[in-house]
Amino acid sequence: MTMFDTILIANRGEIAARVIRTARAMGLRTVAVHSDVDADALHVALADEAVCIGGAAPSQSYLRTDVIIEAAQTTGAQAIHPGYGFLSENPDFVEAVEAAGLTFVGPSAQAIRQMGLKDAAKRLMDEAGVPVVPGYMGEDQDPGHLEVEAHRVGYPLLIKAVAGGGGKGMRLVEAPEEFVDALERAKAEALTAFGNDTVLIEKYIQRPRHIEVQVFGDGTRAVHLFERDCSLQRRHQKVIEEAPAPGMTEEMRAAMGAAAVRAAEAIGYKGAGTVEFIVDGANGLRPDGFWFMEMNTRLQVEHPVTEEICGVDLVEWQIRVASGEPLPARQEDLKINGHAFEARLYAEDVPAGFLPATGTLSDLSFPEGLRAETGVRAGDAISPHYDPMIAKLVAHGPTRAVALRRLARGLRNSRVAGTVTNLAFLGALAEHEGFARGEVDTGLIARDIDALTAQPEVTPAIWAEAALTALGLTEAVDWETGFALWRPEWRRVVLEQGGIRREIGVKVKGPGSVLVSVEGQVVEAQRGVRGWTFDDTPAAGAYLAPGQVTVFAHYGIAFDLPDPLARGAAAAGALGGALAPMPGRVVSVHVGVGQEVAEGDRLVVLEAMKMEHTMRAGRAGVVSEVLVAQGDQVEAGAPLVLLEEDG
Ligand code: ADP
Ligand code: ADP
Ligand code: MG
Repeated sequence: MTMFDTILIANRGEIAARVIRTARAMGLRTVAVHSDVDADALHVALADEAVCIGGAAPSQSYLRTDVIIEAAQTTGAQAIHPGYGFLSENPDFVEAVEAAGLTFVGPSAQAIRQMGLKDAAKRLMDEAGVPVVPGYMGEDQDPGHLEVEAHRVGYPLLIKAVAGGGGKGMRLVEAPEEFVDALERAKAEALTAFGNDTVLIEKYIQRPRHIEVQVFGDGTRAVHLFERDCSLQRRHQKVIEEAPAPGMTEEMRAAMGAAAVRAAEAIGYKGAGTVEFIVDGANGLRPDGFWFMEMNTRLQVEHPVTEEICGVDLVEWQIRVASGEPLPARQEDLKINGHAFEARLYAEDVPAGFLPATGTLSDLSFPEGLRAETGVRAGDAISPHYDPMIAKLVAHGPTRAVALRRLARGLRNSRVAGTVTNLAFLGALAEHEGFARGEVDTGLIARDIDALTAQPEVTPAIWAEAALTALGLTEAVDWETGFALWRPEWRRVVLEQGGIRREIGVKVKGPGSVLVSVEGQVVEAQRGVRGWTFDDTPAAGAYLAPGQVTVFAHYGIAFDLPDPLARGAAAAGALGGALAPMPGRVVSVHVGVGQEVAEGDRLVVLEAMKMEHTMRAGRAGVVSEVLVAQGDQVEAGAPLVLLEEDG
């Protein structure tokens, strides 16, 4: 085999961007594939060439074997990297790639098949001398027979879809009377998700810890790159991963590493793979206290933590071994350096039960010191078609405590606006005391879910910062000039947060000083050399997008600006006269000072957002001031017309 010069990445999002980065660094030409809706995606922009492979639904694009292979052939790519998910563990895809004379960056179709179904994989591992979770993994799927086997295994137990993945098709059964119902539901879920309703039964390990071993093979020999602890899970889905595992002993590490290498070599494994073990954490880590769960025959989502502690680039290794090189390192060359964490940042609505969310990322930035693996930029959308992951945030340090502090600080200083996210939840985990002590097990999140998802108190200072941002005042460089146009009277802005709508009053007090009235409490905002402070607390920073202000306090609090016209009307109602609901140009002025107006009379016509908007009197009264003339450019919140007794 010879080294190829062009590689196609059959994936999207952060993993496609990740693979492209290394491939380019190795001097390879890169080809991206994308669906219609991904035409402007980051992975497309990063690649040397890109091919559109169909519609938004994965079955119409990222899962189309024939179209992807054709794209490789027409662009001259000799190798295909599958990333994870999509076609990465599909043996038929591997065979089609190889039949077309191309190199698949990954294991053989046969190795994938041998590990594809959890029951067959467990039988195989058992024969290879790898400890497996006790249970039933036979072919007889008769419900009566399964129930008998369940009694033999004992409760609590897990029913697992043999074809399962991503935590789906799994049911915990605590007592015999729940078995029949749980079996029915697990089978139904497995059939819909995987088209295969075969299940296995496993003893449920108490105080379970998920510890997996990164392996790497060249088709004959394999090495391991130590373990990752992925016990911080929500509903069997990983949330924060770390390496090495807290409390790991050299003895147990050697035993797990050897078992994982045995597993990889038993199937002639080539490339990067992960052997997942379940560990009984009830009595500390013991060399006889781990059992094989499954092997993932691909690069894993959480591979960066291993890269951080081992100082290797696993994608580079994958590409080198796929091009025919032997294993890039001997076992004795591999050492652990420090500790690393990865947190998975998703667009999801945590209070609504971690519901996947969508939206356009109006602002997105991560601080120095975090390794951010992301497939999106500010301005990109999290679409409903794909996984709502925004980024993986990785922190490394010489010790676990330092790495965890770096993660916590990095999360606090990350900014995401435009969609709800789990950032605050990740932050709460990074600051969780038990987690800091290394007391991890897969039940930690569920036990502490209320504290971990508690909503922060949105203080008047935060409302005040949102209000000033909404009015465009915090950004103004020559803010004095901006404020000079303001008269020392209360202006109003309407904001909505967490179902609460508030009318905030804003008034200039003196040079560099503004009063903000929030529900009867007055916050003093001051502009100093280091920026704004609110009641002497430094501003958290904020971002103004159409219809929304995000204040980056408590990981980001989003305020909606109710519809500008409604806002204009509300403000006018309170004021009598009119405020500009948004920046715009005065088209015409219809009243003069001293004129009597009735409620609803036309005062000013404003052109904004390419439309004309009529500002009307909020009540009957006499015009005391007209502050604008035809053709004037006005800022959001600027007063246009005042009636007597306004202010
Ligand atoms: P990891 O063990 O690396 O966390 P996950 O189980 O979270 O991996 O899955 C990684 C990716 O692969 C996710 O995008 C997930 O949706 C996808 N995936 C995993 N297993 C399957 C499967 N059996 N069918 C479809 N997608 C899967
Ligand atoms: P998937 O293919 O969905 O990743 P796994 O078999 O890897 O399924 O299990 C997913 C998670 O479920 C594990 O990480 C662990 O939290 C939990 N789990 C699996 N098997 C057991 C078990 N026997 N005892 C306790 N928890 C388990
Ligand atoms: Mg798993």
